[in-house]
Amino acid sequence: MIKLSDQLSELKGFRKNFVDKLKKLNIETIKDLLWHFPFRYEDFSGFSKIADLKIGEHATVQGVISAVKLYRTWKRRMFIVEALISDDTGSVKAVWFNQRFLLSVLKKGRIVNLAGKVTESSKNSVCMSHPVYEVLNQKTISGNEETKHTGRLTPVYSETKGLTSRAIRFLIKPVLENLEKIAEFLPEEILNRLRFPEINPALRQLHFPDNPEEWKIAQKRFAFEDLFLLQLANLKQRLWLAEKKSFSFDADLEFLKKEFSRLPFELTQAQKKALWEILKDFKKPHPMNRLLQGDVGSGKTIVAALAALAIAKENKQNAFMAPTEVLARQHYATFKKFFSDFDKGVGLITGGEAIVFYGDNLETKVKKQELIKKIADNEIKIVIGTHSLIQKNFKFGDLAFVVVDEQHRFGVKQRAELLRGSRQVNTRTSADIKSALTLPHFLSMSATPIPRTLSLTLFGDLDLSIIDELPKNRKKIITKAVSPSNRDKAYVFIREQIKKGRQTFVICPRIDPAEINGNLFIPETKAVKEEYEKLSQKIFPDLKVAMLHGKMKSKEKALTMKEFSEGKTDILVSTSVIEVGVDIPNATIMMIEGTECFGLAQLYQFRGRVGRGQHQSFCFLFTDSFSKTTQQRLRSLIEAKNGFELAEKDLEIRGPGEILGAAQTGVPDLAMKAIKNPELVKTARDEAVGIIGKDPELKNYPLLQKRLESFGKEIHLE
Ligand code: ADP
Ligand code: MG
Repeated sequence: MIKLSDQLSELKGFRKNFVDKLKKLNIETIKDLLWHFPFRYEDFSGFSKIADLKIGEHATVQGVISAVKLYRTWKRRMFIVEALISDDTGSVKAVWFNQRFLLSVLKKGRIVNLAGKVTESSKNSVCMSHPVYEVLNQKTISGNEETKHTGRLTPVYSETKGLTSRAIRFLIKPVLENLEKIAEFLPEEILNRLRFPEINPALRQLHFPDNPEEWKIAQKRFAFEDLFLLQLANLKQRLWLAEKKSFSFDADLEFLKKEFSRLPFELTQAQKKALWEILKDFKKPHPMNRLLQGDVGSGKTIVAALAALAIAKENKQNAFMAPTEVLARQHYATFKKFFSDFDKGVGLITGGEAIVFYGDNLETKVKKQELIKKIADNEIKIVIGTHSLIQKNFKFGDLAFVVVDEQHRFGVKQRAELLRGSRQVNTRTSADIKSALTLPHFLSMSATPIPRTLSLTLFGDLDLSIIDELPKNRKKIITKAVSPSNRDKAYVFIREQIKKGRQTFVICPRIDPAEINGNLFIPETKAVKEEYEKLSQKIFPDLKVAMLHGKMKSKEKALTMKEFSEGKTDILVSTSVIEVGVDIPNATIMMIEGTECFGLAQLYQFRGRVGRGQHQSFCFLFTDSFSKTTQQRLRSLIEAKNGFELAEKDLEIRGPGEILGAAQTGVPDLAMKAIKNPELVKTARDEAVGIIGKDPELKNYPLLQKRLESFGKEIHLE
């Protein structure tokens, strides 16, 4: 009997060359192999008689090979294997190109199934070109031998070079036949309630279904399984947090009001509400775990900053983390600008620099080690940096609040690390056991509006605050798709705007032109360097053009950003590093090259970089491909009322992976797809709540508990 845990490399029947190829698909055990689910099925069920074959249809026939020959084409020097297959009604010719090895498989007298498209052959008769074939063991034509490639719903798998669906079927079929019984971990009551098949038949039906209903329900079962485990993990996380202590206090409202009143603007109602929700969480004895969501430019930073001030007022520490150094510096600048007399220490620590600021004009560059020591001694109450802030050898004296900006960029895995990291921070530094049990409050922020189903599934462990209102001074951004023939007009327009004192962003998809050549799907993608040279030398030689991309040193990046934000450069050509959070009110034009390379939500983000000041802003979307889908996408961007609407669309068009960016979530494919199905998400959530509600430790469900543990490790949600 074969076990799920068996290593393929140790099994007979798995040739080394297959094992190596499977490894490239990350398939190393029987479990991996069987959980490599088909992504579609070819319907090769139902046999036709050869005399009934019609040109253009897809058909499966069974017959005996009455002749085989090999010949070579004149012109193209291809080998062609031609076989004649006969049943009791007639004969059909089948041909394969460049597959000489078939001669040793398709021997005269053998019985075969052929499945594929029926085409017209030269002499006015029918022919099957490159059909799927399957040689049978049986000696006479009967149509009832158990098959894997033909005469049934045939699974199609994602393939790797040299490993076809055919080969995968060939490997999986005997495994399923000799597999030991798998223990069912889903509670029986749930299977019954939802009418899901038990795991053993479900797995078989998923690979070799008897009919479409069977694979659909099997697929649903496996998708449910993952969603259910995700929900359980989320709920467990909530329970875990509810058992922890945190620093709880009543925020000093008088102090906060004074800070508010110094701001050059009034907070929006939505900002006040979000801040209030955070302050309420601070009163609770358990750590907050909250996601602050709001459109680009809705003013999330100031909300988090005010909450951080409230913590600092109590002489506790804050860690403010951004996904990039550019953003970390911007946050630091925000504190300096709005809270210039805050004298409890704001520190910026990045790969290249360490700066501290204690109120007016008291900014000093310090040695990194010195800053690190000050942080450990609780001499700096607000510490700003990238996620390197929470790493092994970094200590806080008394950390009470962790803010993670643009958290979706971190991915589920890093997010979990941050949470875990923030726990370690205190346990390692605090002498007394009492505070070792405490965890900092945790606030994450995201400008990418995450559709509800998605946030329920992937971020279901978080409480949600939403800023659904933009500051009053915002003007609508005029958005236009620009065809190649109008490019020059756009440049003229940009020049005019710059002459009026405004600035322009130009976003390009990649850094190096060479990287793109291999990609046939992107016609003429603008790479940053190329674009920078073109703009600075040919189009705008009289203007100041700068370039920004991820491969630059962090010092260079900082300098480039600083000069642009101070208005010293007119045009900033950048990759998507600019995507998150950057705030420069005087920049009023956002030009996006290679629009088709970006997701809708991402384009929305880019556009949000402009339209922040009192001047009218513009967004130009350049594209070389005016395909229907491109136009449709641009139209939805132009017409969208808010980011949520777009995110829902993106979820529909491109799937959850795109919305969450490149961040690896580790969530299985099937579940990712299922996230588009709100009903299944809700069912999974309800079932998870039901189980955890009556048995939080899952004591009566030991198999489920065990599966949940390994699942947590797989997707890094623990
Ligand atoms: P995001 O939510 O995208 O992170 P930011 O926090 O960067 O947005 O804020 C965008 C800009 O709006 C900043 O320049 C900030 O100072 C400004 N801002 C924030 N709140 C308000 C407000 N209530 N009224 C006017 N401007 C605001
Ligand atoms: Mg932001």
